[in-house]
Amino acid sequence: MTLEEIIKSHIAIAGPMRLSDYMALALGHPEFGYYMTRDPLGARGDFITAPEVSQMFGEMLAAWVIDVWQKSGAPQEFILMELGPGRGTLMRDMLRIAEMVPDFIKGAHVHLVETSPTLRSVQEETLKGYAVQWHDRLETVPQDKPIYCVANEFFDALPVQQFVFSDGQWWEHGVAESGTGLQLVRVLATTDLEGVLPHKEPKEGDIFEYARASVVVMGELAARIKAHGGAALVIDYGHAQSDFGDTVQAVRGHTYTGILDHVGESDITAHVDFEKLADAAKGQGMHIFGPVPQGRFLKNLGIVQRAQKLSEAASEAQKSEVDTALIRLTDVDHMGQLFKVMGVIPQDIGAEGFA
Ligand code: SAH
Repeated sequence: MTLEEIIKSHIAIAGPMRLSDYMALALGHPEFGYYMTRDPLGARGDFITAPEVSQMFGEMLAAWVIDVWQKSGAPQEFILMELGPGRGTLMRDMLRIAEMVPDFIKGAHVHLVETSPTLRSVQEETLKGYAVQWHDRLETVPQDKPIYCVANEFFDALPVQQFVFSDGQWWEHGVAESGTGLQLVRVLATTDLEGVLPHKEPKEGDIFEYARASVVVMGELAARIKAHGGAALVIDYGHAQSDFGDTVQAVRGHTYTGILDHVGESDITAHVDFEKLADAAKGQGMHIFGPVPQGRFLKNLGIVQRAQKLSEAASEAQKSEVDTALIRLTDVDHMGQLFKVMGVIPQDIGAEGFA
């Protein structure tokens, strides 16, 4: 059976499936899910992420985490956690910087939350020599120490529900069978959207997306930081304020494709609603920094100076690589503007980068 057939047989028995359930299966089905079966990153994969563009990204994030760790009293033992670590490149680059701060590297217990067995083995290889523990979910990460967390392009991969406003009411989008494949259909909205919708009047055809799983994960993370200390840094593409808009997209081989085509073979994501994430963290008493555009954040932390430094000792070819990477990470036409950075920190400490 293919994943599409599995989904069709669900639908045949239970009727249209929530878009969020479809997304969860397409990405995470234990046997056929997109992330379960491949390493999607890199030139030969489907998409490229900031840590894969340049080591400078992880270096800046390491500087941020170490600064916050110091500001929070440099706890002797703590958890250094990453959600959705991909190839492990970001964590490797961070740990390389951390080696320069002996108390930090000595006290860091590295925990990775990763569902994909394929990517776990890539991470194992990338992080050889470090003591690392893996988890399928945040729940099993130990709860006895401060927790410093980074998450790059993690929340965009969590499922969203989609609602469409029509004839004066909200309908939830479901996935149903069409003659040849799958199609989106309107089913009567059953979820109470009170308190979740943006504060503006919807027009006919407006789409609203709600990432319940993201809100739950952020709430849980914030509760842990509240109880034991720490901080979190979230980087992703998305919007600072909740709004209407259809942002669910699928990418395969670096080009966009239909979200219902090539089931389990394309990367389906949605833009992150940072306001909802912030609200979930504020609900636990957290202080929110940003979100600010990634370009601004990285420049505030000194990425331009770092690029110069790297170029000093480099060959011409390497210099132009560094230049290109700097542009890709910070330029408004590349990852500099759409990608945003949000810090989640207990009330009492500050953070760099958000000016
Ligand atoms: N942070 C990495 C990879 C981003 S891709 C980078 O920047 O390069 C998304 C990552 O999240 C992958 O590692 C994927 O396997 C993981 N992932 C997706 N859904 C997940 C879930 N529900 N729980 C844990 N990890 C998940």
